Amino acid sequence: MKDETLCLHAGYEPKNGEPGVMPIVQSTTYRFDSTERIGEIFDHPTEACIYSRFANPTVDAVEKKIAALEGGVGAMCTSSGQAANLLSVLNLCQAGDSILCSSAIYGGTINLFAVTLQRFGIECIFVAPDATEAELDGAFRENTKCVFGETIANPALVVCDIEKFAKVAHKHGVPFLIDNTFATPVLCKPFAFGADIVTHSTTKYMDGHAVQGGGVIVDSGNFDWTTAEARKKFPDFTQPDKSYHGTVYTEEFGKAAYIVKARMQLMRDFGAYPAAHSAFLLNLGLESLAVRMPRYCENAQAVAELLAASDKVESVSYPGLAGDSQHALAEKYLGGRGSGVISFVIKGGKPRAVQFMDGLGLACNEVHVADIRSCVLHPASETHRQLTDEQLAAAGINPGLIRFSCGLENIEDIKADIEQALANVH
Ligand SMILES: *Cc1c(COP(=O)(O)O)cnc(C)c1O
Repeated sequence: MKDETLCLHAGYEPKNGEPGVMPIVQSTTYRFDSTERIGEIFDHPTEACIYSRFANPTVDAVEKKIAALEGGVGAMCTSSGQAANLLSVLNLCQAGDSILCSSAIYGGTINLFAVTLQRFGIECIFVAPDATEAELDGAFRENTKCVFGETIANPALVVCDIEKFAKVAHKHGVPFLIDNTFATPVLCKPFAFGADIVTHSTTKYMDGHAVQGGGVIVDSGNFDWTTAEARKKFPDFTQPDKSYHGTVYTEEFGKAAYIVKARMQLMRDFGAYPAAHSAFLLNLGLESLAVRMPRYCENAQAVAELLAASDKVESVSYPGLAGDSQHALAEKYLGGRGSGVISFVIKGGKPRAVQFMDGLGLACNEVHVADIRSCVLHPASETHRQLTDEQLAAAGINPGLIRFSCGLENIEDIKADIEQALANVH
């Protein structure tokens, strides 16, 4: 089935007489006939929900829907995008390991990997998104356990060359993980280009309405954990898990080994699982995702063209613009579309940027992106203020950079708001 249909029907299939809309299962516990049955579920945790720290039927339905949209074998929702990215890496790495990461990623992820993971003893080696294959090869270490990128980097809007990163990762026997938040599976399905694991902040387009914060990890099922090389690098997948009565993930769960292991080890221990009500709200957003995404692209394209034509604007980054440095990659991976976010630099640096933002009437100043309403943010003084100047530069962020997230208001109203705010910038 196609995306529009999956958005509405995947994950929840009501049987005779059951509610047509996926119900909110607001219960922390599940009852069973016997202790023996509960024991069986512990042995076969994908058969039923036992406890809400890592499983709930409402969340489960949403996980199945997202897995279907990405074309994966399974998914696990988390309570935030940050938790999704953290757990996606911890499922592969332990103290003493390293990861290779494109420097063009979300600032929160940079901080998570460069500072917090470092404290866990996991080192993050950043590489330029346009590094050659030979340069990427050279950055690998013996202890490198995965490669990480972002389909459309927030807020630099650098498009990841997924095939290049996946190829080099596989050459070194490790999976390629990609944060697909800005593209969503509607604009890009990274598994089709060789990515092994996809993550999302569902707080953004997937929810779309700014009502729930969440994340998700999706497993393609394509990475083979049973090769001789993988058995050495990732013994936890093929050797009995002492913390889970000797389960061998690849033997019991086959292609879904990664995502079941993430749930049974990491979600069990960290408990960053969303509430059923959050999953219900996320599902409402997902139902219209495939219809909303093309309109975000259309509106943002018009805004990018308007900004590019203004003499008050120094530069515009939007992968959908024909002259953009990322357009060729956008053609390859996103059907030429640029999603809904535009980054641009106003002439005159930070003071003018602030003046422009404060002069907007319709688009609101908020720490959010990919909202259904237009909103605007100044990364250098807000989301990315923890980064050093070098890290800002590596992430592609100029101090005068503004991130404009195009909503689904009528495009004429969005344009009029931008035009009046630009006219008042002196
Ligand atoms: C927002 C965002 C995150 C973090 O997600 P939260 O839901 O805010 O924790 C991760 N990656 C990208 C690309 C994001 O835009």
